[in-house]
Amino acid sequence: MITMQRGPQPADFADVRATNLAVVLRYVRSHAPCSRAEIAATTGLNKATVSSLVADLIERRLLRETGLTEHRIGRPATMLVLDGSPYAAIGIEVNADYLTAVAIDLAGQQVLSWRRSFAGLASSPAQAATAIAALGRRAVNRVLKEDRRVLGLTVGVPGLVSPDGAVIMAPNLGWHDVNLRDIVNRALGEPGFPVAVDNDANLAVLAESRYGAFAGSQNLIYLTGEVGIGAGIISDGRPLRGHRGFPGEIGHITIDPQGPPCACGRRGCLEAIAGISAIIARVLPEVAGDGAITDLQPEVDEVVRRARGNDPAALRALDEVGRALGQGVSILANLLDPEVVVLGGYFVPLAPWLLPPVEAELTARRIGPEQGGAQVVASILDHGAAATGGAATVLDHVDAGRLPRL
Ligand SMILES: [Zn+2]
Repeated sequence: MITMQRGPQPADFADVRATNLAVVLRYVRSHAPCSRAEIAATTGLNKATVSSLVADLIERRLLRETGLTEHRIGRPATMLVLDGSPYAAIGIEVNADYLTAVAIDLAGQQVLSWRRSFAGLASSPAQAATAIAALGRRAVNRVLKEDRRVLGLTVGVPGLVSPDGAVIMAPNLGWHDVNLRDIVNRALGEPGFPVAVDNDANLAVLAESRYGAFAGSQNLIYLTGEVGIGAGIISDGRPLRGHRGFPGEIGHITIDPQGPPCACGRRGCLEAIAGISAIIARVLPEVAGDGAITDLQPEVDEVVRRARGNDPAALRALDEVGRALGQGVSILANLLDPEVVVLGGYFVPLAPWLLPPVEAELTARRIGPEQGGAQVVASILDHGAAATGGAATVLDHVDAGRLPRL
């Protein structure tokens, strides 16, 4: 259960206190190890207030003291670092062919990372929600067994998600109007911590901007490379959320009006050409009709094996796919002027063959010289990006002042 600190004081005093606790917590997150004097000097809070806030945060086991260090002036100071080990936040990522679960503690250390096959397309929304909740329950149990408290759980879904956690549509799962947040919350037995649902790309870009190779970049785009392709966008340092939370649907721009049908009902969308199912269908036509998707990793491994072996058909297909992807990346780059575009998911193992045609298209189509200064790279976060981002959003709520109760 997470609540704002509520004591016998008037509400406005409690709010100021919670805000100041969050100020100190955020300062230590970005400057640890640091001393109480440093916190006071930088935040403008007086020393007595900082001491009291730090004592409170230590009691909640959000901070801990580490060794002494020589202070520049005066006596040695006791340094503070984030603790957070008694708490963990959980993220779950839903894909058409697999689920991932990640838990991280308050200091950002990963405490579990699982991947499970999942027959997303062959499952009804109710069956899928049951599978998601079952994985969530196992992750919660693991966290509890390690004597940690769960601060919250966020599910990332490849589709349009309303602010109240309903999936309005997820074409590659065949979902329309599925109230996933309520279903998962019920399946977890109304667990007493917040359960949220968000778009997978929106969550993945948060993880990439914190833990990826370009962490801290103010203008970063993450492309999910799954059955669908979504863009998560950080623009001018802020996640782009749009009017209704539906930006970044780059997978449904038309690349070829005569192209293959897309799960969204249109033709020639980017993901119908460059999504992982489309890539597999081109490189491994013999697997078509093998039945419902469960986990595409073995097929992706075979695509990589053929490309490494310089199989001409595989190399030609990957070049064509890379060019289509490059068209999509160019549109994003011309609109948003990113520092870096990160390819995630199944694009990571295929990056050696996709990046050259993507960069060639970007050079040809970008109005600015030298790709407009934008780099295109493969993610170092593997398949856990959206799940990690889901857990990170829970921690953001703590940093914003929704502190765990004593
Ligand atoms: Zn489409």
